[in-house]
Amino acid sequence: MIAPNKMRVRPYYEVSDAEWQEKLTELETQNSPRVLFRGATIVTMDPEYPDLAKGDLLIEGNRISKISADLTDEALTDGTVVIEAEGTILAPGLVDAHRHCWANSLRRLIPDVDLAGYMATTHTVMASSYRPQDMYAGDLATMLGALDSGVTCVLDFSHNSRSAAHADAVFAAYRDSGIRAVHASAVPEAGDWDRHWPDDLARLKEEYCSSPASLSTLRMAVVSRLVKPLDELMGDARSLGLGITLDAVLGPQGSETVVDLGRRGLLGPDVTLIHCTDLTDEAWRHIADSATRVTLAPTSDAQLGIFDGQFPIQKCLDFGIRPSLSVDVEMSLASDMFSQMRCVLTTQRSGAATRRYAGDPEFPMIETRDVLEFATIDSAKAIGLEDQIGSLTPGKQADLLMIQAEDINNMPLNNAIGTIVLGTDSKNISAVFVAGMVRKWNGRLVGQDLNNVRRLAQETRDHVASQVGLRVDPVVPVGR
Ligand SMILES: [Zn+2]
Repeated sequence: MIAPNKMRVRPYYEVSDAEWQEKLTELETQNSPRVLFRGATIVTMDPEYPDLAKGDLLIEGNRISKISADLTDEALTDGTVVIEAEGTILAPGLVDAHRHCWANSLRRLIPDVDLAGYMATTHTVMASSYRPQDMYAGDLATMLGALDSGVTCVLDFSHNSRSAAHADAVFAAYRDSGIRAVHASAVPEAGDWDRHWPDDLARLKEEYCSSPASLSTLRMAVVSRLVKPLDELMGDARSLGLGITLDAVLGPQGSETVVDLGRRGLLGPDVTLIHCTDLTDEAWRHIADSATRVTLAPTSDAQLGIFDGQFPIQKCLDFGIRPSLSVDVEMSLASDMFSQMRCVLTTQRSGAATRRYAGDPEFPMIETRDVLEFATIDSAKAIGLEDQIGSLTPGKQADLLMIQAEDINNMPLNNAIGTIVLGTDSKNISAVFVAGMVRKWNGRLVGQDLNNVRRLAQETRDHVASQVGLRVDPVVPVGR
């Protein structure tokens, strides 16, 4: 055996496909992972652990155990899988703080609708034809797409749980995908359902989220259809130890709700408000004063034209709030967190430039690091998992990405965060780990039968289309 300190770490592009395949076999046969990445550029997103131009990272079990400029000696321990990671960036897995996964067998079906069109098509017409297996298909396709694009944790805002079996089906999809999921359990926005909610929350928590090995956690999710007064619902959630996520907090009515909750002391860091579009300053003050979390859905507000179409990045910054980011609906919008980061970066800087041009030369512009924080550690806070994920920190869960930074679209590597935020795409993400387990390797999802996933998604799409009398034709937009 060559002494590890004599072992040259090769850049990733000198390692052959056959060698990557051998490493995968080693990774898959480990009972408790012990994985040493060597020679990578490491972006931690944890102020306690500075980024490293070249460094090593060790995973032991489901956690990150060490990050340092040189962990050569760790390679001596039997059973360690050593990954030659020079030329790559190691970064925390991205966290999507809000996505409606069930619907995504209908991806890009309605790319040109506004909010009214989305609501009418999705919730009023299609959602009620969903069976448990359709929930499974949508969630599985979504979660695998998320993993492929570097998202290691999704808050699945599941507002089509028409029965307990519908909820069971999405937990099966989480398990089969291998992603970390926060199940934000909600009632359907419209149509019949069997009124198992919120009573079923206690069962879901016990059955799917109580084991230490579980990658799933639970939150209460609130939509516009309230089955009982909001304060009572929040009391139910808190008595079960669940965080609370409210979607579509919008305009005058949303402001009134926020102010009312604020005055009654019901806001706090266990509450996350999504969108927060066109809220009053009084509502923003209550959010800021109570450390309530905010999740932006940037492309959603802008592209679907939600209220004034302006997602409130500047309001967050004005009130000292660090927002989280989310994809929302894949039926109409982009699926990946890079689109969200770039949208926020561009929009804030565009607004700031306008202010500078108008005579306020010091008006602050956010930077690439800011939006990466929003999509990692701040999104982890918004879903209640900041102690576990959101940064590369020894002791936290090993949810991380290996990004090939010397691919043709990014070479040569000159700035790691700039490369992640502005240059990276799913194809550059060569490896994804969740809780120390490999989920994507050498550019491909691991252990998944994608033809089966395709078949399930197509079956759901065809079932829903036949139920609602819809003709799906890829070259004829729906409704034309
Ligand atoms: Zn939403």
